[in-house]
Amino acid sequence: MTALPADILEILVCPVCHAPFALDVEAGELVCTNGECALAYPVKEGIPVLIESQARKTS
Ligand SMILES: [Zn+2]
Repeated sequence: MTALPADILEILVCPVCHAPFALDVEAGELVCTNGECALAYPVKEGIPVLIESQARKTS
C-alpha cells in the first residue's frame, strides 16, 4: 500500500489552490482539502504526482 511520511504530507500543498492535502490511503490519492478545488492527485509508487492534468475532480 502507498505510504507517505506524515511530514511530507504537511509540506505538500495543492499546486492549484495551495490548500493542504488529505491522504486517501485506499484510493492512493492526495485529496485537496479545499472544497471548491477538490482535486485528487495520484500517488504512483509512493511519489505524489502533483500535476493538474493528472488530477481528477472529486465531488
Ligand atoms: Zn486545490
